[in-house]
Amino acid sequence: MQDRYDCVVIGGGPAGTTTAALVAEQGFSTLLVERESIPRFHVGESLMPETYWTLRRLGVLDKVRSGRFVRKNGVQFVNHEGKESRPFFFTEADERDCAETLHVQRGEFDQVMFENAREKGATCLDRTRVLEIDLQEQGDHRVAIRDAEGNDHQVAAKIVVDASGQQAMIANRLNLRVVDPELKKTAIWGYYRNARRNAPGEPEVTCVLHTRSKRCWFWYIPLADGTVSIGVVGDAEYLLKGRGTPEQTFREEQAECLGLQERMADAELVSGYHVAREFSYKTRQMAGQGWVLVGDAWGFIDPIYSSGVFLALKSGEMAADAIVDALRRNDLSAETLGAWRGPFEAGVVWIRKLVNAFYTEEFSFGEFMKAFPQHRNNLTDLLVGKVFDGDPGRIFKDMDPWIASLRHGDAAAMKA
Ligand SMILES: Cc1cc2nc3c(=O)[nH]c(=O)nc-3n(C[C@H](O)[C@H](O)[C@H](O)COP(=O)(O)OP(=O)(O)OC[C@H]3O[C@@H](n4cnc5c(N)ncnc54)[C@H](O)[C@@H]3O)c2cc1C
Repeated sequence: MQDRYDCVVIGGGPAGTTTAALVAEQGFSTLLVERESIPRFHVGESLMPETYWTLRRLGVLDKVRSGRFVRKNGVQFVNHEGKESRPFFFTEADERDCAETLHVQRGEFDQVMFENAREKGATCLDRTRVLEIDLQEQGDHRVAIRDAEGNDHQVAAKIVVDASGQQAMIANRLNLRVVDPELKKTAIWGYYRNARRNAPGEPEVTCVLHTRSKRCWFWYIPLADGTVSIGVVGDAEYLLKGRGTPEQTFREEQAECLGLQERMADAELVSGYHVAREFSYKTRQMAGQGWVLVGDAWGFIDPIYSSGVFLALKSGEMAADAIVDALRRNDLSAETLGAWRGPFEAGVVWIRKLVNAFYTEEFSFGEFMKAFPQHRNNLTDLLVGKVFDGDPGRIFKDMDPWIASLRHGDAAAMKA
C-alpha cells in the first residue's frame, strides 16, 4: 500500500470494481479495498441485459459468458391466482447478442470483476477495511485502513469513491440518506436444490410470483450450481412484526404462493435463510469536493426488476469517466465529479416508475398488456434496462392514466 493515491475506492462489489478498473486503466494510481475475503457471498444474482455494455468495455464479457453461469433470456410474471404470463423474452424486442444475460453466483461474478480491476492496474486488497474517512474541504482526504494482518494505515486520496454498498459510509456520515417511505420492504431468501428448472438448453427466465393476497412476491432464479435462489419480498411491517422466525414467515408465504406449489414440490433448502431490511433509499447528493458515491452507496430502488447490479455497473462507469476527466483537469469539484448525475438519474426515474406501478395494488402486467398490446416491446425494453437512451418513458403515456383509472375503477373503459 502506498501513502498516497489519485483514487481510493471503498468496496469490491460491481460498482467499486468497475470504477477502479476504468480509472486505473487510464494510468491513475488506484487503491481498491474490500473488507471481506474474495470471493464473498452476496445477494443479487439476476442480471439485466444492459449490463452487456459495461462488461464489454471492462473486457470481462467472454469470462462471464464462458458457461460458468446460467443464461437468462427473459422475465416471467405469475399472478396471485398462479396464472403465468407469456414470458417477456428479451430477443423478441432486440435480436442482438446483447439481449441475453445471466443468472450469476455473485461471489464468482464479483471475483472476476475484482481480478479484472487488478489486471487493469489497481491495487486490490481484500480482507482490508476502511475504518474512517476524514474528508477535507481542500487537498487530499485521509482514509484510515486496517489491512488483513490487522495493521492500521493512513492513506491520502485525491478522490474517494464510496462503493461500500448498503453500508453507504459517506452518505451515512454526511446524513445524506433518505429511506423511501413507499418502499420499506424486507426480503427473506434461501437456496434450494430439486426446485423445478427448465430442461437444459431451454430458455431460462427470472420468475416473479405473487402470493394470493398480493402482499408479497417471490423471486425464483435458477443458478448454475443446480440450486434455485428463492426469496420473498413484502412490507417490513407485514413480514417482520408479530411473525415467527424468518424460516416460519418464509414457509407461511410460500404456502400462500400458488405459483410456487409445483415449482417447489421437491425442493430442499441447502442454505440458511437470509434477511435484508429496508434496502430502498436515495441520497440527497452524489458527489462533493473530491468524493463520489456509486452503486448501492448512492442508492437502491427495489429488487423487483433485478436492476441493482446494472445500476452499480452503470454508475461505476459514469463516475469513472468523470473522475478521469477531473484528474486530467485537476478540478476535483462536486460539479465535475458529479457531472453524470443528471443523465444517470433521468434514466433511473423510469425504473422507479415501473417499481411504483408493480406495487400499485390494482395493477397487473397481464391486464395492462391485454389493454395495450402495442407496448409489449416497450415494457421488454425497460426490463432489459434500456433507460438511458431513446424514449424509455413512452409506455407511461398510457400506463399512468391506466393506473389512475384503475384506482377510480373505470379501467374497463380504457382501450388501446
Ligand atoms: C433482497 C435483495 C435482492 C436483490 N436481487 C438482485 C438481483 O436479482 N439482481 C440485481 O442486479 N441486484 C439485486 N439486488 C441488488 C444488488 O445486490 C446490489 O444492487 C449490488 O450488489 C450493488 O453493488 P455495489 O457494488 O454497489 O455494492 P455491493 O455489491 O454491496 O458491494 C459493496 C462492498 O463493499 C464492501 N464494504 C462495505 N464496507 C466496507 C468497508 N468499510 N471497507 C471495505 N469494504 C467495505 C462490502 O463488503 C461489499 O463487498 C438485490 C438486493 C437485495 C437487497
